[in-house]
Amino acid sequence: MPKPNMYQSLHTTLIAKNGQPFEIQIRTFEMHRTAEYGIAAHWKYKERGSGDTTVRDEEAKLSWLRQILEWQKDVSDNKEFISMVKNDLDLFSDNVYCFTPQGDVKNLPAGSTPIDFAYSIHSAVGNRMKQAAVNGKMVPLDYKIQNGDRIEIFTSQNVKGPSRDWLNIAKSTQAKNKINQWFKQEGRAGNITRGKELVASCAKGKGFEISDLTKPEFTKKVITKYGFRDWDSILAAVGHGGLKEGQIVNKLIDLYQESKKKAPTDEQVLASVIENNKNKPVKIRSTNGVLVNGVVDVNVRFSRCCSPVPGDEIVGFITRGRGISIHRTDCVNVIALPESEKSRLVDVEWQQESFHSNEKFMAEIKIFCNNRIGIFADISKIFTEREIDIASMSSKTSKQGTATINMSFEVGGVDALQQLINRLMAVNSVIDIERSNG
Ligand SMILES: [Zn+2]
Repeated sequence: MPKPNMYQSLHTTLIAKNGQPFEIQIRTFEMHRTAEYGIAAHWKYKERGSGDTTVRDEEAKLSWLRQILEWQKDVSDNKEFISMVKNDLDLFSDNVYCFTPQGDVKNLPAGSTPIDFAYSIHSAVGNRMKQAAVNGKMVPLDYKIQNGDRIEIFTSQNVKGPSRDWLNIAKSTQAKNKINQWFKQEGRAGNITRGKELVASCAKGKGFEISDLTKPEFTKKVITKYGFRDWDSILAAVGHGGLKEGQIVNKLIDLYQESKKKAPTDEQVLASVIENNKNKPVKIRSTNGVLVNGVVDVNVRFSRCCSPVPGDEIVGFITRGRGISIHRTDCVNVIALPESEKSRLVDVEWQQESFHSNEKFMAEIKIFCNNRIGIFADISKIFTEREIDIASMSSKTSKQGTATINMSFEVGGVDALQQLINRLMAVNSVIDIERSNG
């Protein structure tokens, strides 16, 4: 069966008595033409005059073109590609065939070294190469590979990368490319680290914490202003000196101070919460904030007394200076609230997204049961099955032998919680389960 690109051949690798592996490929002349020239073989075959002395040249050109096209896949930079092609017009020189320890054939340009061989396997092999052996003997890295050599590459995690000399030793464009690429990437990583340090120390010099300045809402604006792709690119530019760190830091400071000015005080926020709440309930977005009719973000705290989760009926309590605390409507603390404080209660409701996000909310339940050996294991097992982490678990046993187990854990919402409770109710000896409500 030919491959989709029409290649068709029989391959086998044999090992000779002396341990030398060699690959045999068997094909008809027609299969061979297709293997060498691909689809182009057909027009070439037609145009070829028999006994033409230029056939060898033409073949060389075609194989050259073939290799160029193959390389083009690996090279992203056009300039680099052109210079590579120019430098390698010696493609017509013969190739050298050698073997991996497994007996696979590698075809490299004549004059190739173990460096070329290593990179032809994988750039990671080249980048971590420590030593090479040919036919079982250690060789220097500039050893010229001979036809039929069996080459073994030894790598080490301690090798940090290629050396610059390798660019002169390597023969194949592929290896040189990969070495250059390594230096480019390595250079970028170094520039980013340097840039980061420069920006941080500049910010510190101006009396700012770098973590305050590099919030995404600020960095995003700086990235757009300077037309960079991402923050790392900005840091890399600072690192190699293309951008001045002072410029970047000043811009960040401006943005930071602007945002400070705009941020409403707690008092203003709460006033607006009360004002806006007249007609519509305040929406709870997540554990990070409530949404007042889609406009203001306020600190929100889910009170520990009743641990509301999405789906519970809830009410908000405007605290003094600490945002809004959320309780279940059946929380004893809400029910027992003095008349004078009731004006601080606001209607709140879960925003629809709370039910779909992966966010988890702390819930607490009390399990009443007859104390028996193994009941803790049975209960824990149900949590494990559902991949729910138990945050805390404590129990009290009465003289009559009944136990109250308090458990807290995180769930996504009231449905998941109810399912869990139903499952726990089915455990032998469990009498009742209730959610803590203050
Ligand atoms: Zn409560």
